[in-house]
Amino acid sequence: MADGCIFCRIAGGEIPAQIVFQDEELVVFRDLAPKAPTHLLIIPRRHVASLAETGPEDRELLGKLLQRAVETARQEGLEKGFRTVINTGPDGGQTVGHLHLHVVGGRQMTWPPG
Ligand code: AMP
Repeated sequence: MADGCIFCRIAGGEIPAQIVFQDEELVVFRDLAPKAPTHLLIIPRRHVASLAETGPEDRELLGKLLQRAVETARQEGLEKGFRTVINTGPDGGQTVGHLHLHVVGGRQMTWPPG
């Protein structure tokens, strides 16, 4: 766990979140400020600061994150589609320094993103 990391604290059960799935590696919870009718975050329990910090040794974890996004969308009934987003670094719009994959859906998404 990284000191002061809010997502580490959610994964550790220290601060509350609406958790919809968890296993030994991943935790899925509802975003506090949803940007769409359905908005969840998938995080690894292990503290990884961002996608840019991952390497070949993280291939399996990254595959599990994406596969969990598919499972999450299915569980949430997003059969019309959904968007997965990983914001990385300041220019990428990352505001929490713990790798997380957004799953958003329940409305028509627009492109390009802002
Ligand atoms: P990003 O901007 O990609 O780093 O996304 C961070 C996301 O975390 C934002 O969508 C926030 O609304 C969300 N968030 C921040 N704090 C919490 C929290 N305590 N519980 C749930 N979601 C949070």
